[in-house]
Amino acid sequence: MSQYDLVVVGGGPTGATVAEFSARTRGWSVLVVERRNHVAGNCYDESYPGTDLLWHRYGPHYLRFKNTETFDYLGRFTEWLPGNYVVKAQVDGRLVPMPINLETIELIHGEVALTQESARRLLEADLGFHGEAANSEEYILGKAGRRLYDTLYDQYTRKQWGRSARFLDPSVCGRVPIRFDRNPYYTDAPIQVMPRDGYTALFDRMLRSSPLIDVVTDVDWLHEPVHGTRATVFTGPLDDYFQARLGPLPWRSLRFEAEVKEQEWFQPCVQVNYPGAEPYTRKVEIKHVTRQKSARTVVVTEFPSDVGDPYYPVPARESRELHQRYVELADEEGEKRGVVFGGRLGNYRYINTDEAVESALELAARLS
Ligand SMILES: Cc1cc2nc3c(=O)[nH]c(=O)nc-3n(C[C@H](O)[C@H](O)[C@H](O)COP(=O)(O)OP(=O)(O)OC[C@H]3O[C@@H](n4cnc5c(N)ncnc54)[C@H](O)[C@@H]3O)c2cc1C
Repeated sequence: MSQYDLVVVGGGPTGATVAEFSARTRGWSVLVVERRNHVAGNCYDESYPGTDLLWHRYGPHYLRFKNTETFDYLGRFTEWLPGNYVVKAQVDGRLVPMPINLETIELIHGEVALTQESARRLLEADLGFHGEAANSEEYILGKAGRRLYDTLYDQYTRKQWGRSARFLDPSVCGRVPIRFDRNPYYTDAPIQVMPRDGYTALFDRMLRSSPLIDVVTDVDWLHEPVHGTRATVFTGPLDDYFQARLGPLPWRSLRFEAEVKEQEWFQPCVQVNYPGAEPYTRKVEIKHVTRQKSARTVVVTEFPSDVGDPYYPVPARESRELHQRYVELADEEGEKRGVVFGGRLGNYRYINTDEAVESALELAARLS
């Protein structure tokens, strides 16, 4: 036991939210333990070495909100820039909009001036699956047809996940919409923004908002497991907590290669996907969103990998079954030691930052 009411493991969006809420609304003393040398979790951004240009060290973060409560909550700690989230895919030397929209369908099917109706008819004639999809391949073949699947999804999914879309839940490829309009933006969310001073500044302000919150970095809690007198919230990987006793949960990772380019712009939008034979999946030029002015730019190329930090839980049957067995251990641990598991890693669930903050507020409200 520590002298703190609450110990929070992890200083990412989930940990920062639980700590801020508990200190402000309950007057609890909170210790946040973070094993990296910084807070903000995977949202961490900083100036790229040798430049004053922000980059996202663990992959680009496009913040969007489904509901205004979470947006208003985070808005207490930051001003906003409008999110300029435009993604294209490079196909045969041309850039096509992603998610798929009417222009994508025209460019890949060699058509012009498609309407919603004519595009639907075209895809209908190309569908490669009918019925209820049991995996991501069937899902896309049944919604977008064979040509779009082969061009945009097949290799991209193999690179990203190290397996065919046939071995992934329908929700993996289903997360990105297929549109029959000309909306060029990456998401349909009603609110799309970027914190004006960056994510690190935002989560740092949350953690500094109360003198009741102490933060230690460079400490792996698993090496020195102290508990709060009221609760402990663990936002690290669920299988780490149990020393992978039941076997490791499958995670997918990324390797990032960043480069400073001596040119104002490298590509026409923040993200270009590469669904072809290249070993990488995407190139990101975050300056399109941070809107910094500079004659130089930072471009980050992503190489998916099985090794490295745990980024994406692999959404497939065998990992769901293993996760369920860990959930049983987690429930026992909750009863025995008052440990609550939260966040993207603790729940083994891919969630966006707004969802992490929203569920952290719910989790914090349940603590007593
Ligand atoms: C490549 C990538 C791209 C993404 N893009 C987007 C996007 O565009 N938009 C969006 O909204 N979301 C995006 N996300 C999701 C977003 O990163 C998460 O929703 C968010 O970071 C979840 O917050 P969290 O606090 O639960 O987890 P994390 O941010 O992972 O934070 C957990 C923290 O716990 C720490 N920790 C773990 N174990 C221990 C331990 N034993 N002791 C001490 N500390 C520990 C970790 O170091 C980490 O800092 C992306 C995620 C990834 C991986």
